[in-house]
Amino acid sequence: MNNNKKKKPTCITQFQNAAVYILPYLHPTELSSISSTCKALNLLTKSITSVRSSDASRTFEKHPIPFINNNVDNHPYAYFNYTKTQTLGFTHDPTRQPWGSCSDTRPESSPICDSTGQDGCGCECEIFDGDLDRVGLICECGSGCRIRVLSVRLKIVRSVNKGWGLYADEFIKCGEFVCEYAGELLTTKEARRRQLTYDKLVSGSKRTSALLVVREHLPSGNACLRINIDATRIGNVARFINHSCDGGNLSTVLVRSSGALLPRVCFFASRDILKDEELTFSYGDAGVNPNGSKCFCGSSCCSGIMPSEHT
Ligand SMILES: [Zn+2]
Ligand SMILES: [Zn+2]
Ligand SMILES: [Zn+2]
Repeated sequence: MNNNKKKKPTCITQFQNAAVYILPYLHPTELSSISSTCKALNLLTKSITSVRSSDASRTFEKHPIPFINNNVDNHPYAYFNYTKTQTLGFTHDPTRQPWGSCSDTRPESSPICDSTGQDGCGCECEIFDGDLDRVGLICECGSGCRIRVLSVRLKIVRSVNKGWGLYADEFIKCGEFVCEYAGELLTTKEARRRQLTYDKLVSGSKRTSALLVVREHLPSGNACLRINIDATRIGNVARFINHSCDGGNLSTVLVRSSGALLPRVCFFASRDILKDEELTFSYGDAGVNPNGSKCFCGSSCCSGIMPSEHT
């Protein structure tokens, strides 16, 4: 019997109904300013935040890859567009990708080939099992190939010094495929331009970029192929893999798929990795940049400074 209570205007109800479709397109800062406008929108943004935190891969990968922040700070997740594999570089900001709708459901996963060794299905890639020194791995098999599908269980954990980091959420056997380094493929000129911008941002805050440079020495003479992949705006979980001065527990392998011009950069376990261990690899030679940011890798041979790409 509350006669003073005003009926909600229809336009507000309509806006709230539409918000369900609009909110998944918003950046975290936009969401937080909207969440303070009314109770209904506050609840909606909370549910979007919790869906986003529960799976960095936005249901694109076989298993959800959750963000875990045990009261380190107030970052529930990291915002970026997701891609499963490398893509051509964008000149403008990429189109927004909806993320966090309550209707996000994991599609029925396609059968995945987990077979290895003699009894395997005969994928070309399996011939090279355990031979991680081999660069230029050839994969010509179908989409069920184990080096195309991210199938190990992973999680992204927040820590005080390093920010986000990628961790194993199950035992990973030595030699097993972990993930590809997915992101925008850049020309060296564009990579240098972006690196300068990122370096300025990093020196002002904790923010780090995810621009990876890999060099492949071609068999013919002294030629060297340089591959620049930027996962800062668009990428996959590999963008969270931190550096370790001791080389870490992952090795990078260039995988050339049939028909593709450039190889893909893939990470394989370089030793057995236990559940809850952080996944790391070496970003490059340490100590090249005395002004580089502080290294928190914690390994016994830590140089104290993060290596940075000399572009
Ligand atoms: Zn197979
Ligand atoms: Zn294959
Ligand atoms: Zn270190």
